[in-house]
Amino acid sequence: MKHGLFTAIHYVLTFARQFGLRHHQGLIATVAVLLLLSGGAYAVASVVVSLGPDVAQLPIHEVSEPVTPLPLQPQSEALDAHQVQLYRSDISRSSDTADTLLMRLGIDDPVAVAFLRADPKARQGLVGRVGRSLNAEASDSNALLKLVARWSPDDDGNFKRLVIERNGPTFSSRLETAPLTASSRLAGGTIQTSLFAATDDAQIPDTVAIQIAEIFSGDIDFHRALRKGDRFSVVYEALEGDGEPLRAGRVLSAEFVNDGKTYQAMWFQEPASSTALPQGESRATHSLTKGGYYTLDGQSLRRAYLASPMAFSRVTSGFKMRFHPILQKWRAHLGVDYAAPTGTAVRSVGDGFVEFAGVQNGFGNVVFIRHRNNHTTVYAHLSRIAVKRGQRVSQGQNIGAVGATGWATGPHLHYEFRVNGTHQNPLAIARKSESIPVSPTSRPVFMRFASTVRQQLAAAALLQAGTTQ
Ligand SMILES: [Zn+2]
Repeated sequence: MKHGLFTAIHYVLTFARQFGLRHHQGLIATVAVLLLLSGGAYAVASVVVSLGPDVAQLPIHEVSEPVTPLPLQPQSEALDAHQVQLYRSDISRSSDTADTLLMRLGIDDPVAVAFLRADPKARQGLVGRVGRSLNAEASDSNALLKLVARWSPDDDGNFKRLVIERNGPTFSSRLETAPLTASSRLAGGTIQTSLFAATDDAQIPDTVAIQIAEIFSGDIDFHRALRKGDRFSVVYEALEGDGEPLRAGRVLSAEFVNDGKTYQAMWFQEPASSTALPQGESRATHSLTKGGYYTLDGQSLRRAYLASPMAFSRVTSGFKMRFHPILQKWRAHLGVDYAAPTGTAVRSVGDGFVEFAGVQNGFGNVVFIRHRNNHTTVYAHLSRIAVKRGQRVSQGQNIGAVGATGWATGPHLHYEFRVNGTHQNPLAIARKSESIPVSPTSRPVFMRFASTVRQQLAAAALLQAGTTQ
């Protein structure tokens, strides 16, 4: 793909969020230079303090004052003692051994290699671990002075910091736990080939790409309805440890333009006080209301039906059907076919109960689910059925797996939506299905929040348009 074609933006937003936001980009650099002049000695200290990314705009203070000349011998000894320190960063790989890991960081230090091999904390935290953020500090002779690995193993708001430090002739190690800090990241892209190609180019993590697809899953079928030229903007939480991005959090707001139509969404959690409490129930059980995604005018994006019977993933997005279903025998083909590898999970698009689960001639292994209002959905050619006749199922629940049973020449899911026995376009039904508005008591808070989100998404779209020029 040509670079100029693709539009991706990367932009870190630093608007303050309610919890522990720390601006790691603000940096303070201090440079001290000692000049020896023939007529006497002057110490010139020039200090540059940068409080933001644009260093050129900032004032530089120079302070000059005469000092008494020092004897030359102690000065040159002091210079010898002050060695240059080298800083390098990398990401750990599953194939890493103690040797390869240090080699990649440019460290040549047999004592350090031996320590990493022998120390239990280092072996557990570093060797053969994928995706951990590494920072190394080395002497000018490439000996290891300090090595720090950071990672966030659980979704509990914390990260691990493994510190390996030189102590005289040997090393010590310690493992610490510290809280992640959240910042918001704004990114976007334009679809050229697939959603994942676009999010990869914009360096958006997969977890965020999948969230975008799920948020809009009532309106856009990401398996079938994406168009070249569709574009999106997203604001999501980036969780950092000591300023290193370690984990992507929740999508806070997003915009998707599909086939010329704009969809917008924002995360909103109703304040606990706005929920009326049933008699006899304590506030404690209600203090955490469930959040969800809403349109900017306050309609929930949760619908009675999902647009797609398969969750969007890297696997399903890239899979193409090798063979068309046997159309000659499959005359009345009134469904939608989803190409996917055998074994891909199939989900019920809505709440209901299993009307049929078993084998039928052309359908092979098939599940019929009965929903309200005489709506029925059909999932055919399954390799495996995970439900039984009469069983209740909820929206998103796994009901089986993609296969090629019945009249199918390659693995795919045949999906139908019937209303009173008549076939309907599933996507149209999903879009029409009812949604729940935000509660009247939360509405003022919601609308204030939504106007901020609207500005962010407008800014994102502008930035993106700028990068397309
Ligand atoms: Zn079909």
